[in-house]
Amino acid sequence: MIRRLWKFNGGVHLPGHKEESTHHPVRRAPLPKRLILPLHQHIGESAEAVVKVGDQVLKGQMIAHAKGFVSAPIHAPSSGVVVETGDLPVPHPSGLSAPCIVIETDGADQWAPLQTHGDYMQLDPSALRNIIREAGIVGLGGAGFPSFIKLNPGPGKVVNTLILNGVECEPYITCDDMLMREHAPDIIAGLRIIRHALHARECIVALEDNKPDAYAAMCAAAAGTDIQVVQVPTIYPAGGEKQLVKVLTGMEVPGNGLPIHIGVVCQNVATAAAVYRAVEYGEPLISRYMTITGGNISQPRNLEVLIGTPVKDLLDECGWNPGTLERLLMGGPMMGFALPGDGVPVIKTTNCILAMTAADSQPQRPVMPCIRCGACADACPVNLLPQQLYWHAHAKDLDKVQEYNLFDCIECGCCSYVCPSNIPLVHYYRYAKTEIWAKEREKQKAEAARLRYEFRLQRIEREKTERAAKHTQKKEELTAAPIDPSDTKKAAIVAAMERAQAKREEIKGGE
Ligand code: SF4
Ligand code: SF4
Repeated sequence: MIRRLWKFNGGVHLPGHKEESTHHPVRRAPLPKRLILPLHQHIGESAEAVVKVGDQVLKGQMIAHAKGFVSAPIHAPSSGVVVETGDLPVPHPSGLSAPCIVIETDGADQWAPLQTHGDYMQLDPSALRNIIREAGIVGLGGAGFPSFIKLNPGPGKVVNTLILNGVECEPYITCDDMLMREHAPDIIAGLRIIRHALHARECIVALEDNKPDAYAAMCAAAAGTDIQVVQVPTIYPAGGEKQLVKVLTGMEVPGNGLPIHIGVVCQNVATAAAVYRAVEYGEPLISRYMTITGGNISQPRNLEVLIGTPVKDLLDECGWNPGTLERLLMGGPMMGFALPGDGVPVIKTTNCILAMTAADSQPQRPVMPCIRCGACADACPVNLLPQQLYWHAHAKDLDKVQEYNLFDCIECGCCSYVCPSNIPLVHYYRYAKTEIWAKEREKQKAEAARLRYEFRLQRIEREKTERAAKHTQKKEELTAAPIDPSDTKKAAIVAAMERAQAKREEIKGGE
């Protein structure tokens, strides 16, 4: 059956640079000496360490548990000893340090006992979600949202369409392509598990029409099932969740809404493979496929990498030249970010390390004034008005940028890419978002301080009233009860109270 496809607005055709890293089969990266595990590798709250320096850990053992609902645990990617806990540089656009656990590996790579779960068809959705949560699985397509949450559509919500996203639209990145070529049966098995958890009516595996080998492998793995494997046109950013939903279903995910609001759930192909390994073998998420590529790399390829492996180990493995390195990115050239150095580790959401020379980075062209050509709006896949967003972000008018739906911007970079004036539009949007978040945090802090102050005043007032009431009660009890002549203490108190009252009246009379 040929599925009807729709188009989303805009998008751009980019040089793919995919073939460089797809010549070799994927192999495991060597076991690193040190694994650095940031506690924050996903959207939501950081995990909380459950090990301390000196602890021996086994491969697959939980070393940090999920803290809060939107969170995911972290597991030791290999056996060894915890040698450090504390703030270290992490892969984040801010370039800041954050809490990490460092494991010195012992070379034995010895697994902790794994718990298998039997036939998943006998498990109810909440049990499946729990297994996926405990395995620390997050969306491996880039966002890093804890996967078990997406597998809970909520009461009364029906999932009509489950989409497995294999549309790897950013240039240079090929890890999902290679995973589909090499592990298509695992991906389909994971898709079936996810379908069981969601009771999804139809299932689609989507990939671009520039991946014939992956397409053939996925079709073979899905043969004899009702799962549709669909090729979509190669245009950036067709792999964006909302864009892919539009292409496959013709429906628009509402701004500020989620695909589930229109009966759709999207998961990445690598996430499905991780779900399969967690449910079938009890394996937590401790490794992933990733691409190491760019003009600075002599043997660009995909490797299966343990989470926590320092980027430098991977660059060494694939042959880099520090002397000609111009830019080191985590992710692709459109949505990736510059790394603060090669000592940071890969995390669950790392799909690519891109090491570029001056020759393959886009030359910095001089920024010119906006000529109001409208090319940015034509390219925007979210139907925003990038030029207006730019004006208001430039003027620091944070209310206006929100009126122009800044937070619908997926930072795909299409607008910057087509801008003839070379305006780094996305930088302005990121800046505006950061400012708004900072202001929001300040507002929340001020509100919390105000509430604390009001509670304090209320408490002081309440305690004062309670003290006064107690005092009155005591006084009444003392004056009401007849005085026992043997109770000298009480008699003295009553006498004192009477003297005080007499004094007060005397003063009043003299006024
Ligand atoms: S593409 Fe650039 S020059 Fe053209 S309207 Fe947009 S911001 Fe202005
Ligand atoms: S970066 Fe934002 S504004 Fe620019 S094209 Fe992408 S979604 Fe539109």
